[in-house]
Amino acid sequence: MMKALPALRTGQPRVEHGYLNPIEGVEIPFGIIEGAKPGPCLLITAGVHGSEYCSIEAAIRMLRMDPGRIKGTLLIFPILNVQGFLKRSIYVMPEDGKNLNRMFPGRPDGTVSEKLAHWLVTSVYPLADAYLDLHGGDLDESLAPFTLFPNGCEKSKALATAFGLPVAVAAGGEGYTINAAYKLGVPSLLPEVSGNGLWSEETVGRMLAGIERVMHHLGIISGPIEPAPQADPAFVTMWVPSAPVSGLWYASKEVSEPVAAGEILGEIRDVFGTALATIRSEKDGFILYRLTSLSVNQGEALIGVGTPLVSEG
Ligand SMILES: [Zn+2]
Repeated sequence: MMKALPALRTGQPRVEHGYLNPIEGVEIPFGIIEGAKPGPCLLITAGVHGSEYCSIEAAIRMLRMDPGRIKGTLLIFPILNVQGFLKRSIYVMPEDGKNLNRMFPGRPDGTVSEKLAHWLVTSVYPLADAYLDLHGGDLDESLAPFTLFPNGCEKSKALATAFGLPVAVAAGGEGYTINAAYKLGVPSLLPEVSGNGLWSEETVGRMLAGIERVMHHLGIISGPIEPAPQADPAFVTMWVPSAPVSGLWYASKEVSEPVAAGEILGEIRDVFGTALATIRSEKDGFILYRLTSLSVNQGEALIGVGTPLVSEG
């Protein structure tokens, strides 16, 4: 078991698959695809959330990339949260019950998810010229495909355009994979495809087509490739109300549906049907994702409303 990553470039085209043991008790599968010619290093991670299967399967298929097709290097971690995958966890790493995608930049002396975040920030992200962290709706979420990019990073925004999903969310905030990588100067994108534990050839293919367009944009592969379905995605910001109380969640909007400020997004009720909270939109926009679980706990995200950014043109 290796503690540290092997060299990304040896001068020989190669495919290297193995397991890494970066922190005690954690074994992570990885792949390095080294092309014959030098070029950028694209880092691809999936399974930060262990039950987002479409993203995990897409990363697994990338492990089989022919090194003869690429310039540069692909560094792939198809399942970062291995215990979450095995135990079918929602959101968290079972080892400490924490959401890895809220823990960045982590701590060297913290719990497992904090240590893993710290290792990624100090030992993995600095190796990358660009970063894709693949996600989807979790077991309890449905969504219409979109990408998230760190707000204010033009190179990341260009990755969103290249990836080609119809909506791109300018995301702020701390603790996230792509934000931590952006702070190190690495252009980063978080694509979200499929949800509710579903994956199919169609959804995995959609994720793979986006990855291929990003590799083409970075000069890792040359054409021809399937072009993005639109010149630019709809650029939005996302507003996410969280549950003010625990109870049963009755959404009144579906993904992609438009919504006006003041409209009801859904209701939290008790088991006898009494309304405990009514959730109204503070924004005009459309639904990007929603919780599909009937059960909701106080503080959990209920629904994502995308509000189009006003064009500067
Ligand atoms: Zn996720």
